[in-house]
Amino acid sequence: AVRSAGEPEFLQAVREVLESLETVVERRPELEKWGILERICEPERFVQFRVSWVDDAGRVQVNRGYRCQFNSAIGPYKGGLRLHPSVNASVIKFLGFEQTFKNSLTGLPMGGGKGGSDFDPKGKSDMEIMRFCQSFMTELYRHIGQFTDVPAGDIGVGAREIGYLFGQYKRITGEYSGVLTGKGLSYGGSLARTQATGYGLCYLVQEMLSCMKGDGFAGKTTVISGSGNVAVYACEKAQSLGAKVVAMSDSNGYIYDPDGIRLDVVKQIKEVRRGRIREYLEEVPGAQYHEGCRGIWTVPCDIALPCATQNELDEESAAALIANGVMAVGEGANMPCTLEATRALQAAGVLFAPAKAANAGGVATSGLEMSQNSLRLSWTFEEVDARLKEIMTGIFHNAYDASRECGCEGNLVVGANVAGFLKVADAMLAQGVAY
Ligand code: NDP
Repeated sequence: AVRSAGEPEFLQAVREVLESLETVVERRPELEKWGILERICEPERFVQFRVSWVDDAGRVQVNRGYRCQFNSAIGPYKGGLRLHPSVNASVIKFLGFEQTFKNSLTGLPMGGGKGGSDFDPKGKSDMEIMRFCQSFMTELYRHIGQFTDVPAGDIGVGAREIGYLFGQYKRITGEYSGVLTGKGLSYGGSLARTQATGYGLCYLVQEMLSCMKGDGFAGKTTVISGSGNVAVYACEKAQSLGAKVVAMSDSNGYIYDPDGIRLDVVKQIKEVRRGRIREYLEEVPGAQYHEGCRGIWTVPCDIALPCATQNELDEESAAALIANGVMAVGEGANMPCTLEATRALQAAGVLFAPAKAANAGGVATSGLEMSQNSLRLSWTFEEVDARLKEIMTGIFHNAYDASRECGCEGNLVVGANVAGFLKVADAMLAQGVAY
């Protein structure tokens, strides 16, 4: 904790995992002897670099770039790149740490990593985005590779940015390889990658509801925060499973549509026009718009899916959800619930699917993209989607079984942490320590 003072997000993530591992550490003294906990909390490598680029007015702008290569015990580092003004070393380290356990849970051979920049893509022209991505990759390329570290998208990094990053990597290295995932379909991308995190979240929540409550999405009022990649496809799958999604948001505010959100309108605003969620009312005048994004948790619902960003759902929001009778919360974003909110929801008996299990569908499908690139093959949408569903239901059962073995049956926070941890820890033990 002393070494990471000033890194609150990272400490929050580490604390949550370490608390879950207490019973495992008691049962496995060799973990302590081999310093597994200390080693697993320290990134193998953390690179910070300058990204200078030229804006449309011809001025030089400077941002800070990061890549955190957290753990490579079970495979090459794997994790997204985030472009957002809130990005700093603490945020990147917390995301890389979480990614290590999440990737382990998928059952695929991927280590953990994360990167990004404090660059703000909002209001930038297409050419500015391209020049930024090229400059970013001009430094990043020396640290990554298809067998060492394979970045992907995250907040602010979608298909357009991955395209510019891939183009620059290829230009510099002359190599055509699966060094990035989330690529376009014409140059090595995988069908269903765009949908994977949102769909995967719903597959896992559906399995959780079915096994723990004999229930499902059908007929359930659902609230989804955010309106980005994860939120949009969580909405699509929840609706197709019979849920009525009544609210979505962006960082300015939220919309409430008692008749059920019209996803075609949201997609048009967010994916085509890159506009604001309040524009929904121009198409659907019967809906409501409320300033401020946190208010979304006061909307009564059976299922809540926070899909925007870290710490967006605090204790007060959790209390509002509980008071309104929420039955399940599934974390689509990374660490969207504060520790206090998570504890309050669990204490109230709300089914809780933690991020590292619930949103693992994105990276799992990225793993499938890597497999397809290595095979020089493309699988159909149905093939990838079926594998995704199998992986997500498998993650639920692994986490559930681990929670039972730890004596807290149904606590998926503990279950996911323990199941994700054990595979990485065993690989680290097997590989020894260099001294
Ligand atoms: P996007 O950039 O596509 O979308 C983020 C969305 O969240 C935007 O609608 C943004 O609105 C909104 N937002 C940001 N801050 C807030 C806030 N405080 N309150 C409400 N809305 C907010 O990102 P993704 O959908 O890709 O990622 C969302 C989350 O899911 C992140 O935590 C990410 O790490 C996680 N994740 C993503 C995966 C993926 O495959 N994409 C995989 C696993 C996890 P605005 O336009 O106003 O900024």
